[in-house]
Amino acid sequence: KKQALERFFSRMNPMQQKAVFRVNGPLLILAGAGSGKTTVLINRIANMIHFGDAYNTTGQIFTEEESAFIQDYAEGRTDDGKRLAAIIGTRQVRPWNILAITFTNKAAGELKERIEKILGEEGRGVVAATFHSACVRILRRECANIGFTSSFAIYDTDDSKRVIKAAMRSLDIDEKMFPVKTIMSEISHAKDSMITPEEFSKDAVGDYFKSSVAKVYKKYQKELLANNAMDFDDIICHTVTLFENCPDVLDHYQNLYKYIMVDEYQDTNRVQFRLVSLLSQKFGNICVVGDDDQSIYRFRGATIENILNFEEEFGCTADDVIKLEQNYRSTQNILTCANKLISNNVGRKGKNLWTDCGDGEKVIVHKSMNERDEASYIARTITENNDNGRRWGDHAVLYRMNAQSNALEQAMIKASIPYKIFGGLKFYERKEIKDILAYLGVIANHADTFRLQRIINEPKRGMGDATVRTVLQVSSDLGEDPIYVMEHSTEYVPLAKKSKALTEFAFMIDDLTELSEAVTLPDLLDAVVEKTGYGALMKQQGVEGEMRLENIAELKSTMAKYEEDAEDPSLDGFLEEVALYTDIDTLDETGDYVALMTMHAAKGLEFPVVFVAGMEDNVFPSSRSRDSESELEEERRLAYVAITRAKEQLHLVYAGERMIYGSTQYNRESQFIKELPAENIDKQVPKLDTKPMGRPSDNISLGRQMAMYNSAKAKSSEPAETYSVGERVMHKKFGEGTIVGVTPMAGDTMLEIAFEKVGTKKIFANFARPKKI
Ligand code: ATP
Ligand code: MG
Repeated sequence: KKQALERFFSRMNPMQQKAVFRVNGPLLILAGAGSGKTTVLINRIANMIHFGDAYNTTGQIFTEEESAFIQDYAEGRTDDGKRLAAIIGTRQVRPWNILAITFTNKAAGELKERIEKILGEEGRGVVAATFHSACVRILRRECANIGFTSSFAIYDTDDSKRVIKAAMRSLDIDEKMFPVKTIMSEISHAKDSMITPEEFSKDAVGDYFKSSVAKVYKKYQKELLANNAMDFDDIICHTVTLFENCPDVLDHYQNLYKYIMVDEYQDTNRVQFRLVSLLSQKFGNICVVGDDDQSIYRFRGATIENILNFEEEFGCTADDVIKLEQNYRSTQNILTCANKLISNNVGRKGKNLWTDCGDGEKVIVHKSMNERDEASYIARTITENNDNGRRWGDHAVLYRMNAQSNALEQAMIKASIPYKIFGGLKFYERKEIKDILAYLGVIANHADTFRLQRIINEPKRGMGDATVRTVLQVSSDLGEDPIYVMEHSTEYVPLAKKSKALTEFAFMIDDLTELSEAVTLPDLLDAVVEKTGYGALMKQQGVEGEMRLENIAELKSTMAKYEEDAEDPSLDGFLEEVALYTDIDTLDETGDYVALMTMHAAKGLEFPVVFVAGMEDNVFPSSRSRDSESELEEERRLAYVAITRAKEQLHLVYAGERMIYGSTQYNRESQFIKELPAENIDKQVPKLDTKPMGRPSDNISLGRQMAMYNSAKAKSSEPAETYSVGERVMHKKFGEGTIVGVTPMAGDTMLEIAFEKVGTKKIFANFARPKKI
C-alpha cells in the first residue's frame, strides 16, 4: 500500500490527478498519444479501491490531521491500517464492482498486471477484459435467456465462412456473383449497427444484392443458433439484446459493474457504445479515455461520434472532460513530427502535445532501393543498436500490410536476430490445430455440427458427405444432436448401412466427453490424439506429420499453462480463450526479441526504437485511400499511431522499388514524409552501388546489399575483423563453432562455420560479426 500511496501523491501531474481522483459520474479523458491515459486509468482504479471518493479533484478533502496521517502511512512512519480504514474505509470501491475494458487481450492482461502490481491480491478482483471476453463471461451465465446453452461455441472467421458458404449453396446464391467475403462483410457491418436480419431485409426491398445478403444473413443466424454457436460480432450484439430483453439481468450487471472504464474509446462501434451505455445507465459512473487522432478502426464500424457525443450522451459538464497535454513517452523531435503530421487532418479536436524528454535524435528518413534493401537496413541498424547495448526487445518494426512481413522476416533470419511476427500465419490457423480444436469443440458441445463436419472423416472413417448430410438431416428433424443420432443409427433406415462406423465414432466422442470431466486438459488432449487415430495418421506422414505433432504438442503446453493460470479451468474455458485469442497477445514482455507487426496491432504499445517500413505512396497511404479524403485521413491517423509508438529512435524507411503480391511497384516517398518538418528529420539517401554482381543467388544478393550499405557507410565504418580457417568463434545465435571456409565476397567475407550445435552454416562476417574466442 505504501508504494501505491506514494504514487498517488507524487507521480501524476495535476490534470492526471484530477482524473484519478474523480470517481463518480461520467468522465471523458481526451488526450493525445503517450500522455498517460492508460496510466491514469490504472491509477484511477487503484485510487478507487484504496480511497474511493475520499479525495476530491484537488486531492484535498481530509482534515489537516488526517492528511498528515495518510502522509505518515504513505511514508512508512505508521502502519495503523485500522486508522487508515476509519478515515477512508467506507468510501472505497470493491474491486469486483469495477469493469475495465480495452481492445486486445494483451492490453487487458497488462491492465491486470499493473493493477496487481499496485494493489497486490486486492487487485485481482477487478475485471479487466476486452469487450469480447467481458461479454462471453456474461453470456456463459445468462445466454439461456436468448436461446443458447452455456456451452455455446465461438466461431472464428474461417468457421463463419463455411457456414455462409453452406447457406449460400442452399439458397442457390452464386458465389461468383456475390463473393462470400463481400457477403460476410455486409453481415458484419449490419451487426456493428445492430441491424437484425428482419430489419435488413426490409431495407433491401428492390435491391437484388441486398436482398440476397438479407436471405443469407437470416439463414446464417438460424444456422448459428441451431449449432449453439456465435460469431465474433454476435458476442457483443447478443449481450446487448440480452440486456434489452431482460431488465432483471441488466439490473444485476448494473449493480455488479458499478464503475465502468473503457480504454481506446475512439475505436468503439455502435454496439459497443450501446453496451457500455446500458451497463452504466443506473449509476452513471462511466469513464472513457481516448484520442480522436488515433481512431483507426472506422473501416470496421468504429465511430468517432462515440467520443464526440460523449459529453451529451452521458450528461457531462465541462468539468467532466479532462485533457492531458504532456507526453511522457517520446522525445521532442518525434513528437513534433507527430503533431505536424496530424495537423493536416481537418475536423479534429485540436491539441498540442509537449514533452520534457528533451530533443533526442532526429527522426531518420531512409531511402532504400527495394524491399530487401529496406529490410537489411532495418536488420543492420537493430544489430548495431544491440551491439551498443540495446535489447532486441527494445525494437519494433511496423508495417501497413501483413504481406510486407516476408522480406523483413528473412532479413531477421539472415542477421540471426531473434524476432516474433504478430499476425500473419497464425498458430491457430494451422490445419492440425484447427482439427484438434474441432475435436475438442465437439467433445464440449455435441451440437456443434460445423466442427463435427470438419473432423468426422479426419482421419478417414469411410463416411462420405452424403452420410454426414443424412446424419445432420435426421438430427435436425428429430431435434437431437448428431452424436445422439449416430449412436442410434441402427434405428434410422437411411443410416443403417453405415451404422457401424457411425456408432463407433459417436461412442468415441461420448467416451472422450466423459473423460473430459475426469482428467486434466493436457491428458484429454493426449487421449484425443490417440483415440481418434489422428496421431497415427500424423505418424504416417513423415517429416510433415512430425511437424504437425510438434504443433499439437505446442497446443498441449498452452493448455497446461491455461490450467495453471485460470481461476476455474475447464474445456469450455480453454476453447473460449483460444477463440478470443489473437496473435498480438503472445507478445511476452519477458522474452527478448524484435516485434514485427502491423501498425494497427501496435495500438497502445510503446518501444524505445521503432521502424516504420514501406513509407511510400501507394503502400502507405495505400493506393485505395488516394481518392477519398476521409480514407486518407484515416491513413494519416494510422501514421500518427505508428510514429507515436517510438520513445527514443524513429526510422521511417521506404523503397524505390517494391515487389508485392508478385508484381513490382515503383513508388515515391510517402506524402506523409513530405508533411514532416524538415528541421526534425535527418534524411539518409545512401549512394547505392548498383553494378550487377555475380549470380543472383540469395547469398549474393545479401552480399550486394552489404556492399551498398558499406559503400554508403564507408567513411565511418571501423576496419573489419579478419578471420581465418581454423579459428574458433562465438555466434550470437548459433553458439560456438570453428571456421572451415573464408571467401571474400561483395565487399564482405563469407564464412563457413562448423557450429557445435547446429552444424555448418554460411554467414557474412560483417553482418553477423562472430566473436573470436
Ligand atoms: P496511447 O495513446 O499510445 O495509448 P497513453 O496516453 O495511454 O498512450 P500511457 O501508455 O499511459 O499513455 O503512457 C505513456 C508513457 O508515459 C508510459 O511509459 C507511462 O509510464 C509514462 N507516464 C505516464 N504518466 C506519467 C507521469 N505522470 N510521469 C512519468 N511518466 C508517465
Ligand atoms: Mg493507452
